[in-house]
This record gives sequence, structure tokens and C-alpha cells, in this order.
Amino acid sequence: TKQLNFLLPDSDATVAFGKCLAPALKQGAVIYLYGDLGAGKTTFSRGVVQGLGHNGNVKSPTYTLVESYQFSEQSVFHFDLYRLADPEELEFMGVRDYFADNNVSLIEWPQRGEGFLPEADLTVSLAYEGEARQLTMTAKNVRGIAILAALKS
Ligand code: ADP
Ligand code: MG
Repeated sequence: TKQLNFLLPDSDATVAFGKCLAPALKQGAVIYLYGDLGAGKTTFSRGVVQGLGHNGNVKSPTYTLVESYQFSEQSVFHFDLYRLADPEELEFMGVRDYFADNNVSLIEWPQRGEGFLPEADLTVSLAYEGEARQLTMTAKNVRGIAILAALKS
């Protein structure tokens, strides 16, 4: 399968879905997150970060551009590039080092970083459906396909 769809009735369901995905990300992944403001990109990322073992707060990287989380086997970088003025700024932030193979990158507004980001293994799109959200997850390469397969089993 290259694409999965889920209807997430509330924000708890979106967090829970992110937590479910976490065990499938042990080998690392680059995940682009799409959706309007308030669609749930940060809520989903919170689930992933907590699912990977972070017990504290997961705040939105709205102003900091990136928040990082260190685990014993990997690091997780949660980006929100909405306020990135120029994609070239990513170079100065030294993000190249962040994209090591086994790390996880969750990237909100990847459009703003075009040309300075690695290719996505997976894309996650969130769309308003009244109170609920329609989540569509698409594998962009073999690693993405493996993640979707692990998620389903
Ligand atoms: P984004 O990062 O896409 O701008 P956030 O995750 O910060 O969005 O905010 C989503 C907002 O929508 C939160 O206030 C959350 O409580 C609310 N919400 C309502 N229903 C859902 C849902 N099904 N999934 C995610 N968030 C939801
Ligand atoms: Mg956000």
C-alpha cells in the first residue's frame, strides 16, 4: 500500500494515531506534514514524540522553527517552517546534521524549506471534516512503504 486514510474524530484520536505510528519509525524517517493552520499537524507530532518515549511537554516550534528531542537510539526534530523567511536560513541553522539516517524529522510547512530539505519518506495531510480530521498518509519511497506496512501489522 502506498496510501492510508483515517478519520480522526477529535484531538485525542490524532495524538493516539501519532503514538501508534511511533514504533514504526525506529529506523528513522522524514515526514512532511500538510494542512491548514489548526488542522492538527502539531497535535499529530505531539503523539509521535510522546510515542517515541518523551514524557514532557511537546510545544509547537512556531517561533523557534525547530524543537529537538534526544532519545538513546535517535533524535527527533520537529519543525514548523511557517515563519521561515527564506529557505536558505535552514543552512545557517545547521539542519543538514539533523537529517542523519536514523533520526526522525517531522516538518510542518515543508513548502517553505524547498531546496534545503531532504526528500520525504512519508507525507501526512490533515484536512478539516467538521470537528474531525481526515488524515491521509502517503509513502514516497521504499522506506515509506515499509513504515506503512509496519503500521498496519
Ligand atoms: P496545526 O499544527 O496544524 O496548525 P494544531 O495541532 O496546533 O494545528 O491545532 C489543532 C487544533 O484543532 C487544536 O486546538 C485541537 O485541539 C483542535 N482539534 C479539534 N479536533 C481535532 C482533531 N480531530 N485532530 C487534531 N486537532 C483537533
Ligand atoms: Mg503547528
